[in-house]
Amino acid sequence: MKKVPISFRIDDPAPVYSTFYTHRANHLTDYGEPILEKFPNSFLFDFCDMIERNGMKGKFSIVPMVANQGDIINGLGDVPREEIDEWLDTVKKRVAPRFTICPEMLTHSMAIDIKTGKALDENENEWSQHQSRETLTPYIAKALSLLKEAGFDVFGVTSPWRFGFDVRDEYAISISDAVYEVCGKENAWFTLGGLPMPAAAKAWVEVERDGRCLVSIPSTTEDRTWQILTDGDMSEEAILKCADAYITEDGRDGDIIRVLENGGWPIMISHWQSMYTNGSSAGLRAIDIVGKRIKKNLSDRVEWMSFEEIMNMVIADKAAYPKPVFND
Ligand SMILES: [Zn+2]
Repeated sequence: MKKVPISFRIDDPAPVYSTFYTHRANHLTDYGEPILEKFPNSFLFDFCDMIERNGMKGKFSIVPMVANQGDIINGLGDVPREEIDEWLDTVKKRVAPRFTICPEMLTHSMAIDIKTGKALDENENEWSQHQSRETLTPYIAKALSLLKEAGFDVFGVTSPWRFGFDVRDEYAISISDAVYEVCGKENAWFTLGGLPMPAAAKAWVEVERDGRCLVSIPSTTEDRTWQILTDGDMSEEAILKCADAYITEDGRDGDIIRVLENGGWPIMISHWQSMYTNGSSAGLRAIDIVGKRIKKNLSDRVEWMSFEEIMNMVIADKAAYPKPVFND
């Protein structure tokens, strides 16, 4: 029997700076603790150990101008160059072989004027909703270019927040055009935030145009690690409860099992900040347990795939993956 793809989508990583810190005006968690502005590189090393231990594959974002602090090529805030390079090199060596790398637009904070680099007075989510392909294409192209210049093979994007949702037809064309322009690749993929997911979601062909193809890859589970970040309960009990929400110890319940039972593909999602869980790494530990449970219970049913592998699988048999109907 052919195995079902399973994949893990990580949103919001960037060298050192936390987008979560900039998203909260008071820089406090929901439970009132000061949010750490920076992630140590050791957290990335722990993440690499975890994905290697569990054989995980998926998608890993890099926000190239994270939190309007500069960019990954020319420098970020007061961070020593060696620290940025150590982060980027580690992603290249240990993450990129398993996880498809992409930008999550430029700043995941305030939109910028791409000519001057100056912040505009709207965040990227607000700004994107009233753009067209004329402005979206160069914006996305800049994000792809920065990652390409840093040495990453890129051909897709993750949408920060609900980026581009209100103009999604223009947005889809812009992604396909920007990938072709910057990377010379005919096939691209993206994730769109804000879509209601049908129970049996898989990936699908969003746009086919000029011999080029754009594949939409949704996440099909909630980010359950976010609950720990919201509650502030980092106990073993809370970590096990979080893991159970994805898949229980006996492999009989949880989001992943429900998606499989409905005939969909389990595409899990978590965020850099919810795995870091403000310094405790409680979310990362929950995901580690999830990885072990998947291996123990589902090895004969699912196969880990990167977003690149999912994109190629869909493009190899386009007719089998039509766009679902959304009632929105
Ligand atoms: Zn994000």
